[in-house]
This record gives sequence, C-alpha cells and structure tokens, in this order.
Amino acid sequence: MWWSSGWGQGGEYVAGTLAEAGLDVVGVELVGGECPYWACVPSKMMTRAGNLLAEAGRIPALAGEAVVTPDRTRVAGRIRDEATDDWNDQVAADRFTAKGGRLVRGTGRLAGPRRVTVGDRTFEARRGVVPATGARPRIPAVPGLEGTPYWTDRDAMAAKELPASMVVLGGGAIGVELAEVFARFTCAVTVIEGRAGPAAVAGGARRSRPPWEPSAEPHRGRVEGVTVPRR
Ligand SMILES: Cc1cc2nc3c(=O)[nH]c(=O)nc-3n(C[C@H](O)[C@H](O)[C@H](O)COP(=O)(O)OP(=O)(O)OC[C@H]3O[C@@H](n4cnc5c(N)ncnc54)[C@H](O)[C@@H]3O)c2cc1C
Repeated sequence: MWWSSGWGQGGEYVAGTLAEAGLDVVGVELVGGECPYWACVPSKMMTRAGNLLAEAGRIPALAGEAVVTPDRTRVAGRIRDEATDDWNDQVAADRFTAKGGRLVRGTGRLAGPRRVTVGDRTFEARRGVVPATGARPRIPAVPGLEGTPYWTDRDAMAAKELPASMVVLGGGAIGVELAEVFARFTCAVTVIEGRAGPAAVAGGARRSRPPWEPSAEPHRGRVEGVTVPRR
C-alpha cells in the first residue's frame, strides 16, 4: 500500500498514477487542493475577466464607442459554478476512485514509520507514505493586523463583491496578480512591498488609473491601476 496525504495537484497526480499502475493506494484529504479551488484556476478566471476589461477600454482609441460596466459578480459566479462546483471536490474524488484508489476524508497524521492515522483509524503502508500537504496562506507578524478584519488570498478568490479600496501586503507574483485584477474591477488598490528590487512590484510604479486605461509600460512589469507607495 502507498499512502498519499494531501490531495492537491501533487498528491492527486502521485496517488492516481500509482493506483493506475496497480498499487493499492489510499489518499487522505480535507478539501481537494489549492490549485483548482483557491489558486491557479480561479485566479486565471479573474485575470481573463480583467484582461477583457482592459481590452474593452481600448475600443474608443481604436474602434469606436463602448460602454463597459465592471461587475465582479460575473466572474465570482463562474468561479463558483464552473471551476469549483461551489468548492465541492467530489469530481476529483471520483476521478481517483475510478482509478482504483481509496479516499479517506479527514486530517492525516504520521504516527510512526509508514503509519498514518485519520481520526481513530490507523493505516499501515507496505511501501511508503507521500506527504503532499501543500501550503497555506502565512499571516505576517504585522503589528495591528491581529484583531483587524483581513482577507487571505483564499478570501479574495471566493469574494462575490469587492470593497471600494484595498491594501495588498506583498508585491510577489500572487499579490501583484490579484492587485491588477481588482484594480481593473475598479477597486483602488495599494500594494505594500517591503523589499526593493525586481520583486518589489517591478520598479516602484506609483499610479492610479481607471481600469480601461492601458498600462504605459506593461513590459517593464509595472502594475496597471495600482498604487505603490514610494519607500
Ligand atoms: C492565488 C494563487 C495563484 C496561483 N496560480 C498558479 C498558476 O497560475 N500556476 C501554477 O503553476 N501555480 C499557481 N499557484 C501555485 C499552486 O496553487 C500551488 O503550487 C499548488 O497548488 C501546490 O500543490 P500541492 O499539491 O503541493 O499542494 P495543495 O494544492 O496545497 O494541496 C495540499 C492538500 O493537502 C490537504 N492537507 C493538508 N494537510 C493535510 C492533512 N494533514 N491530512 C489530509 N490532507 C491535508 C490540503 O487540504 C490540500 O488540499 C498559485 C497559487 C496561488 C495562491
């Protein structure tokens, strides 16, 4: 028996491949992975919608008149209905069991060499255990943050509506991706990045533009519609 603990992209691939190869595989999972439910897939749906808004904003300069009213609920509905089945991972579970694997719902714990417990059940693996438990949003030790309502990127993915303004802590790939999308949906976004250099929202751009105005220097990595305070 192989055991795969965690059911993200990594765990599902490993467990599914081994099950297809004929091994007796048990997978344990809480909810099926970050990428399809909280990360790559929903964020790319948001990016696609934001790109459309930006592209539509170029119509007056190039082709005529167009009125576009950004509406976050459209993309929120697509994420809920088309991408995540309202955050129900049964499709992924069925995909795995169809390959011959067994899925156990719950939190797995390593209880010794090749031994995993889930609640009061204990599983002994003959061949090995694959921890594939992924990552979670890390809450930084920022004074005042505790006790203040805030979103992690997961809350941002599931949001039906956006606030009028937002501060994004961290100008890495995910922070910048979300910042630009939300700005294109008319949210006034400020990115706070502690480090200088290429990762620091690429050049310290300070701008606040309407969502339809094209970025002047997109290829230098500046962020459209986003304010980055000067250091
Ligand atoms: C906003 C955002 C956008 C992203 N966009 C992209 C992109 O476009 N392209 C790209 O390649 N990557 C992207 N990523 C990164 C990508 O989502 C991750 O690299 C990938 O999901 C990691 O997969 P994983 O299998 O290692 O872990 P995860 O997907 O995190 O899966 C681990 C699973 O294990 C479960 N688990 C944890 N502990 C236990 C336990 N003790 N017992 C049972 N189950 C447990 C969790 O519930 C989780 O479902 C993005 C990330 C974010 C946050």
